[in-house]
Amino acid sequence: MERIDKILSSQNIGSRREVRNIIRQGGVILNGRPVKRPEEKANPEKDTIIINGSTLHFKRRIYIMMNKPKGVICAVQDRCQTTVLDLLPQNLFRKGLFPAGRLDKDTEGLLILTDDGDFAHNMLSPKKHVYKLYEAYTDKPLDSKVCTAFKQGIESGGCKFLPAEIRLISPNRAFVCIQEGKYHQVKRMFEAVGTNVIYLKRLRIGNLSLDKALEAGQCRELDKKEIPLLLSDSEFSP
Ligand code: URA
Repeated sequence: MERIDKILSSQNIGSRREVRNIIRQGGVILNGRPVKRPEEKANPEKDTIIINGSTLHFKRRIYIMMNKPKGVICAVQDRCQTTVLDLLPQNLFRKGLFPAGRLDKDTEGLLILTDDGDFAHNMLSPKKHVYKLYEAYTDKPLDSKVCTAFKQGIESGGCKFLPAEIRLISPNRAFVCIQEGKYHQVKRMFEAVGTNVIYLKRLRIGNLSLDKALEAGQCRELDKKEIPLLLSDSEFSP
């Protein structure tokens, strides 16, 4: 059982103070009875809670898919630069949200934001084999030697990258599937074979693809069926 004001403020209904005001005005009904005091307790998973006429659909954790645009950093807050959290619409914002894994400032595409630390850890741990698929454009044409090097696993600057799958789409464009998430990994792998990445977009994590309906900078909440796709042992293929 938890305090009703805490439950409601955790669900983005308003700050603790705003929630208390709604309660005082008789706007919260718990199992058919008006709540009189903010400290009243409820079971958010089982009880029926109505706020100003609307039923609360309680969610302990939230999972958001964003199509990250270029020029925005993957951080919770920053004094100078726009962060991915700054792009969230008010209705999806909750305290405790963070980006699960990082994309570089100039990288676009699929980014997950959540307030579930264990989930993020599982999604990002190399031991879980959640593959990430990227589309990359390079400044030099790619050939079969690059593909062989990626498939064998690249070593560069004392760092060893696990084997990656790569499919050439055109001389300067490839789909790359990696099984870890090391710092600047895709760019460093291409650099190691003498090429620079000039455009990078993440298209898929595990078995969940970026929703094509999302414009750069837009996001939406994941539904219940989509969340486990982020952890599922995905196909290691671009
Ligand atoms: N690899 C990179 O080099 N950059 C990213 O943003 C993601 C993967």
